[in-house]
Amino acid sequence: MDFRHTDEQQAWKDMLHSFMNKEVGREYTREHDENRQFPDEAYKKIADQGWLGLLVPEELGGLEADPVFYAIFCEAMAKFSLDTAACVMTSMFTATNIVRHGSEAQKKEHLPPYLAGERKFSVSISEPEAGSDAAAVKTKAVLDGDEWVLNGNKIWCSGAHLPGAVITVLARTSEDRHKGMSLILVPNDTPGLDIQKMPTIVRRSLGTTEYFLTDVRVPKENILGEPGQGWEFINGHLEYERLGLAASYVGNARTALDDTIAYTKQRTQFGRSLSSFQVLKHRMAENECELQAARLLVYQAATKMARGERAVQEVSMAKVFAADVAYKIAFNGMQALGGYSQLPEYDMERYFREAKHGMVGGGANEIQRTIIAREMGL
Ligand SMILES: Cc1cc2nc3c(=O)[nH]c(=O)nc-3n(C[C@H](O)[C@H](O)[C@H](O)COP(=O)(O)OP(=O)(O)OC[C@H]3O[C@@H](n4cnc5c(N)ncnc54)[C@H](O)[C@@H]3O)c2cc1C
Repeated sequence: MDFRHTDEQQAWKDMLHSFMNKEVGREYTREHDENRQFPDEAYKKIADQGWLGLLVPEELGGLEADPVFYAIFCEAMAKFSLDTAACVMTSMFTATNIVRHGSEAQKKEHLPPYLAGERKFSVSISEPEAGSDAAAVKTKAVLDGDEWVLNGNKIWCSGAHLPGAVITVLARTSEDRHKGMSLILVPNDTPGLDIQKMPTIVRRSLGTTEYFLTDVRVPKENILGEPGQGWEFINGHLEYERLGLAASYVGNARTALDDTIAYTKQRTQFGRSLSSFQVLKHRMAENECELQAARLLVYQAATKMARGERAVQEVSMAKVFAADVAYKIAFNGMQALGGYSQLPEYDMERYFREAKHGMVGGGANEIQRTIIAREMGL
C-alpha cells in the first residue's frame, strides 16, 4: 500500500494550491463572506481553467478526471473557506445528473453554458418536512399535456437564486415513497417560482434559499430519465457530493490547524510562546493525527470510486469523520486564538461556523452513521 499521491496527482495538487494562493486568496474570500457575495471573479477564473468540467466526459467538453483528482480539487478549493468550495462544487456534482442521466438534448442545452461558467446548477431535495427523511418530499409534479406542472415548497436550496441557475428539483410524480420521485430541471426564471435568500451563518457567498412553486410549468422533456428514477439518481449524486464535501473539510481543516500553529508560535504570554504550553501542543498534535486519518479515509473512498466500485460506506465514513475532525480543529483553534478568534480578520470564526455546518449539510452525521451501520449489516 502506497500512501503517497502519484507524481501527476501531486503536480495537480501543487498547481491548485498555488492557484488558490495567487488567484483567490484569504482577503478576497473573507470580503465575499462578510458581504455575502458570490465570488464571481474566482468562479470565472476556475471556469477559464476548464476545471468545471472535471466530472464531465471528454466527448462532452470536460476533463473526465477520476474521483481522486476530484477530491484533490475539492480539498484545494476549500483552502480558505468551505463556502468557496461549495460555490464551485454544488454545480459540479449536480451536473453529474445531466452527464449520467440527461438526454442528448439536455446535455447539449445545459453543459456548454455550464462549462463556460455562465450557467450554475442547484440541487433541491430538502423541504420543510423532508430533511434527513428526504424521501418524505411532497412537492408535486403533474403532467399536463406537454408540460410538468410543479407545486410545493423547497428549502435550503443553495445557489438557486444565482443568475442563470437551473434547479434540479426532486419532486413527487406518484405516491410510491421511493419510486414515486423524479428529478426535473427548472430554470430559476420560470414563472411561478418565488425564491428568497435565507440569512444563514454559513454559505454566505453561495447563498441558500427557500422557494415556493405555484403552478410552475416546464416542458415534459425537462425530466431526467424516466418518471420514478429520481431517488436512484439522487443516491448516485450523493456519492459525489459527499466525497467532495469530505475532501473539502480536510482541506479547510488543514488551514485551520496551520493557522492555529502559526498563531500559537508567535503569541507570547507569561514570557513564552503559547505553543510551548503542553496543553496546547498536545491538542495540536492530536488534531494533526486526526486530520491525517481523515485524509486517508477520503482517499480510500476516492480510490474505491475510481476503481468503479460501490463506495457508499467508505464515502459516509470519510464524510462523518472529516466533518467531526474539521469541527474539532476549528473549535480548538477558537480556544487557542483566545479573544482574537472572534475577529473576522483571523478567519477562525469562519472556519468554525462552516465546520459546524459540515456536521449537518449533505446529510447529517447521524444519518451518515446510520448508512455506515446499514452497510455493516446492522
Ligand atoms: C446552509 C445550508 C445549505 C443547504 N443546502 C442544501 C441544498 O443545496 N439542497 C438541499 O436539498 N438541501 C440543502 N440543505 C439541507 C440539508 O441537507 C439538511 O439541513 C440536512 O439534510 C438535515 O435536514 P434538517 O435540517 O431538516 O434536519 P432534521 O432532519 O430535522 O434533523 C435534525 C437533527 O435530528 C437528527 N436526526 C434526524 N433523523 C434522525 C434519525 N433517523 N436518527 C438519528 N438522528 C436523526 C439529525 O441528524 C439532526 O441532527 C442545506 C442546509 C443548510 C443549513
